[in-house]
Amino acid sequence: MIDRIVSTGIDEGPDPVVTEQEQELENTLRPKDFANYIGQDRLKQNLQLAIEAAKKRGEPLDHVLLYGPPGLGKTTMASVIAHEMGAQIRITSGPAIERAGDLASLLTNLQDGDILFIDEIHRLHRTVEEVLYSAMEDFKLDIMIGKGPSARSLRLDLPKFTIIGATTRTGALSAPLRDRFGMIHRLEFYNHDQIGQIIERAADILGVKIHQEAAGELAKRSRLTPRIANRLLKRVRDYADVNGDGIIDSVISRQALALLDIDDLGLDPADRIMLMAIIDNYKGGPVGVETIAALTAEERTTIEDFIEPYLMQIGLIERTPRGRKVTPKAYSHLKRTPVAEA
Ligand code: ADP
Repeated sequence: MIDRIVSTGIDEGPDPVVTEQEQELENTLRPKDFANYIGQDRLKQNLQLAIEAAKKRGEPLDHVLLYGPPGLGKTTMASVIAHEMGAQIRITSGPAIERAGDLASLLTNLQDGDILFIDEIHRLHRTVEEVLYSAMEDFKLDIMIGKGPSARSLRLDLPKFTIIGATTRTGALSAPLRDRFGMIHRLEFYNHDQIGQIIERAADILGVKIHQEAAGELAKRSRLTPRIANRLLKRVRDYADVNGDGIIDSVISRQALALLDIDDLGLDPADRIMLMAIIDNYKGGPVGVETIAALTAEERTTIEDFIEPYLMQIGLIERTPRGRKVTPKAYSHLKRTPVAEA
């Protein structure tokens, strides 16, 4: 069967991280199969096993929940799974399914073995979520027809489909929904080597010439995240086209990164503003996320989903029961001296 990606075409709401142009780039660069999906080895092993078993039994794959910060490859993995299963995939997102009826029409249009990818599944409306329970568990759809005393419920059989849900945090998912996933996997940050390979692969696809040293330099500053790596590669390519002969060497990449104001740990101005805000206003913390959001004029979700996970991963902030705290490593990176406790 041909692997096909069908979008529901429903407005998926603002995403502070991805622009339309980038979406196009992402689709070009998305690896199609396990062989081209770099890293996440444990996840791949687990999924490969489950896929092989499901195929052997002639059954659809169990429902899968993927979680982790944006840009680590959840959507990509969903399409890889579909490809490896030889299944069709439909892509939608939690907030795009506004009513139970929207979900009903999505589900009744599926065929046996199809995959429904729901991004931001933690943002599903409660009424929609409740309909999803029996759909996921028994492949039945319970719908109410009519209103008032003449209302009656109807139970429809659904095709045997697989839900792949993606979320930036499992904590935001209700327990009954989480329990209906047979597989729950966290995507890890990548290491510099893997990001380097992702950059070289993307450069190859885009026909960009990049020196190995420059690829390593970009890898170090990509927040251990494939989406950022691809984005930086594109920006640096622009710089090389305008200021050189299009070839990305280490001089060009360093100049371009300086212009983008991305430092050698991959921090951008938003990261530094957040760290400095905690240092300058709260002597390094601990301080609550709401306060940080007010101080930096960032959305709380942007801080929690995007800024903070990387800063924690590289040990610049830590979470304590009383809030976020800047670490000594952050002070030394920002060349600041901690203020002694009174
Ligand atoms: P998420 O759904 O977690 O936000 P995506 O799956 O959209 O992330 O990944 C963002 C981009 O990063 C993709 O378009 C793809 O080009 C690239 N990417 C993600 N994971 C990998 C990987 N393991 N190997 C190569 N490229 C990847």
